[in-house]
Amino acid sequence: MSAESYPVVVLGAGLTGLSAAYHLGAPSLVIEREGEVGGLARTHTEEGFTFDCTGHLLHLREARVVALVDALLPRAFARHERRALVFSKGVFTPYPFQANLHGLPLEVVKECVAGFVEAEIRRAAEGEPDLGTIGFREWAERIFGEGIARHFLLPYNAKLWRADLDDIECGWVSWSIPRPTLREILDGAFGATVRGLGYNPTFLYPRRGGISVLPEALALRGPEVRLSETVVAVDATARAVHLAGGRVVRYEKLVSTIPLDRLLQIARGLSSDLPRIGERLRAVRVLNLSLGIDREGVSGAHWIYFPEKEYSFYRVGFPSNLSEGLVPRGCSSLYVERSLLRDEPFDPEEVTSRAVEDLRRAGILRRGDRLVYRRLSILDPAYVIYDRFRAQNLPAAHRALNEAGIFSAGRFGSWEYSSMEGAIKAGMELARRLSGSLEGRGAVLRAGTMSGPTGRF
Ligand SMILES: Cc1cc2nc3c(=O)[nH]c(=O)nc-3n(C[C@H](O)[C@H](O)[C@H](O)COP(=O)(O)OP(=O)(O)OC[C@H]3O[C@@H](n4cnc5c(N)ncnc54)[C@H](O)[C@@H]3O)c2cc1C
Repeated sequence: MSAESYPVVVLGAGLTGLSAAYHLGAPSLVIEREGEVGGLARTHTEEGFTFDCTGHLLHLREARVVALVDALLPRAFARHERRALVFSKGVFTPYPFQANLHGLPLEVVKECVAGFVEAEIRRAAEGEPDLGTIGFREWAERIFGEGIARHFLLPYNAKLWRADLDDIECGWVSWSIPRPTLREILDGAFGATVRGLGYNPTFLYPRRGGISVLPEALALRGPEVRLSETVVAVDATARAVHLAGGRVVRYEKLVSTIPLDRLLQIARGLSSDLPRIGERLRAVRVLNLSLGIDREGVSGAHWIYFPEKEYSFYRVGFPSNLSEGLVPRGCSSLYVERSLLRDEPFDPEEVTSRAVEDLRRAGILRRGDRLVYRRLSILDPAYVIYDRFRAQNLPAAHRALNEAGIFSAGRFGSWEYSSMEGAIKAGMELARRLSGSLEGRGAVLRAGTMSGPTGRF
């Protein structure tokens, strides 16, 4: 049997792969392991309950991505003002913690405000810390002071990353952790709710259905996607992809959006260092428990952070507050997220009973509430760990792949902490980068790839 051949083969039909294929146009084939497109942006509907793979809310900042989403799905999204809370010391306060201290015990408020002022004074004398040289713990203490670090940033991030916070680099903090001014900290401490901080004060969500409408719309207008096909090896010398069933697909350029650690382990014909690098890239999994409750309005929030270790999850979200039709009449839905090391064993029954107990302790579930739906799923990987090994080895790994005509992109392809908008942008940028070498091969570069900033998200 002779192998099929394409100018571009794309591994993975998540938003990055779909966006790359859509923007390149005709001469590409997308290969996806699952039976449906979307990757992390998939939606699951069962027994009248619709859940995304944990919360997936769309934050758009770039005009070319806004234009693309409008063109694919006109008027399909509603804009929501974030209703996010933090549960700590037995009280709910508005997110972000650091700018809304009012309501916490007075001692905690004093410690947080005093620590922030001391940190400001120290920075005025010594300057901003160098993000490239310090770990997350030091960054949190030097920017926010010891109180805010001790009561929120350190316990929350320890729960999420499951790693020593001195070893976590700060490449992701500037866009994801809001930095209020002293005035905002004081306003929040004296009772004014400080809104609008951070990257997600508002977000978009489909008026009907879940977030999968977005990848599905891209797939509908893009080139061929082959589902339920798992890539088991990449032969960089022969420029061929081997699939689980034994079939082989040849390529001139390969776009890979599968996790980089896996790609480095299945790629043959490259430097012998790469599989070893792949083995040492670290990430955590996220265990997502989706629950349906037989009561309306279990919470008014979109999501709530839980920094304290007495609670098994780090975040709880409420899809039934996003749009109508995501739950049966008279019901609510929520999901809890718990971070797990990749080799950490867990007992599904324990996870569920502990989550329910914790939701009751926090006052979200009541004694009489009945669980009418539940589903446990694992995202693996979910968050890549920004340790020193990653920073030292990532550039060389990408260089070696690029020289062999392999372009690894997206949240796990680039091994980074990025969003759905980042994935769409990464696909656009790759299409632009590859289209030059495909001239005269039927490549139809779509609008959106032509201009605009190219920086990473
Ligand atoms: C817990 C969590 C919450 C998030 N919440 C938000 C949010 O609210 N807003 C937001 O904007 N972003 C959010 N994100 C980020 C967002 O999901 C991602 O940035 C984006 O969906 C990544 O798309 P991708 O295509 O790069 O990767 P993926 O979606 O992972 O796609 C990769 C694809 O490759 C396929 N694949 C893997 N291995 C193989 C193989 N061997 N053969 C063939 N196919 C393979 C996978 O099945 C998958 O479909 C969240 C992420 C997580 C983990």
